[in-house]
Amino acid sequence: MNRSVYNPFQTAQAQFDHAADLLELDQGARDLLRNPMKEFHFSIPVRMDNGRIKVFRGFRVQHNHARGPAKGGIRFHPQETIDTVRALSMWMTWKTAVADLPLGGGKGGVVCDPHNLSPREQEQICRGWVRQVLKNVGPYSDIPAPDIMTNTQHMLWMLDEYEAIQGEHFPGFITGKPVGMGGSQGRTEATGYGVMIAVREALKELSVNPENTTASVQGFGNVSRYAIELFQQMGGTVTCVSCWDQIDQTSYAFRKKDGINLDELLSIADPFGGIIKEKAADLNYEVLPGSTWMEQEVDILVPAALENQLNADNIKNINSRVKLIAEGANGPTTPDADQFINKKNIFLIPDLLANAGGVTVSYFEQVQSNMNYFWEKEEVLGKLDVKMTSAFIAVSDFAKANKLNMREAANVIAVSRTADACRNRGWI
Ligand code: GLU
Repeated sequence: MNRSVYNPFQTAQAQFDHAADLLELDQGARDLLRNPMKEFHFSIPVRMDNGRIKVFRGFRVQHNHARGPAKGGIRFHPQETIDTVRALSMWMTWKTAVADLPLGGGKGGVVCDPHNLSPREQEQICRGWVRQVLKNVGPYSDIPAPDIMTNTQHMLWMLDEYEAIQGEHFPGFITGKPVGMGGSQGRTEATGYGVMIAVREALKELSVNPENTTASVQGFGNVSRYAIELFQQMGGTVTCVSCWDQIDQTSYAFRKKDGINLDELLSIADPFGGIIKEKAADLNYEVLPGSTWMEQEVDILVPAALENQLNADNIKNINSRVKLIAEGANGPTTPDADQFINKKNIFLIPDLLANAGGVTVSYFEQVQSNMNYFWEKEEVLGKLDVKMTSAFIAVSDFAKANKLNMREAANVIAVSRTADACRNRGWI
């Protein structure tokens, strides 16, 4: 996939322009919201295990903080670019607004591949990242969290560095911490579960019983795993999962027509979302080219990997049976693929809504950290369900009332709430 052909920031800006047109937003508001308010670009020098210094490129982008402190994850990825981080930070502003959380949007990244880094080297990157942005992040200004290839351990190293320098405890500085170390029950599950809560609501609208549905999922990281878990609990069948193969540097799809076994696949997966293909073949999975995940004869597609995965080159390959797409990933669909999906009348749950479960429980984690009082898992998941369901209904009602599709409705709600906050503060 040529990432330069589809620049996620251009996609994010095109989506914003469309929402701004629908809202007839004035020029000042457009100028403010079309670009991030602040950006930090920096170098993180790390002494590697072989004794040599290697310099990693790091970013933090704060798109908007009118509704509350900037909020969003930090991604470790070898192809990370500033434009990807810019797009992701803008999408965070809209996501927290759609979920109606008192937060803004930000995103961070480091150009690195954790597959090739020892735990000590990863720790040094985490601590170095915090040292570079220390003065510009914090529990009341910008609160990081996990994203692709970052996990609870990375968050704890970052928190420790922040607190070591400040000389005080600030558990609300970062979310996605380990349970027992300021983390929230249910945070790990939250994004994937949230995707399926949204799917459940969409199926209700389509008058389809989840028990009779099949799904194919792209990705086998944190989002995908818990989305599959809840979907199976709802009675659905996942027939295909695709993921990146680190050794072959390509992706494969793993298919079992009568349904994949999640525990079985987890037992042969690495922590970054790869499945060992030889072992999958031994377990009687068909091992197919990665691109075939979207060609499966299923009711539901869940892109839960990277951006730009449904695009003009491949969107025509989706099976005519597909009636629902739930965007577990951020920005998985390019604008041209979006048009095709609309034309085919496929119900699309946009990323801003579908994957808002993660940041919703991050918000609950902040609240618990600040109170130093932690809730039971059932309470967290119950509150997640309430928030996701009401966000879904708000977007769906708005779409119907204004004859918009779900993406347009989510974008318009988000941009209008954010613009209102900027206006009320006297910024525009
Ligand atoms: N990285 C996640 C996202 O894209 C979670 C962000 C957060 O919890 O702050 O929504």
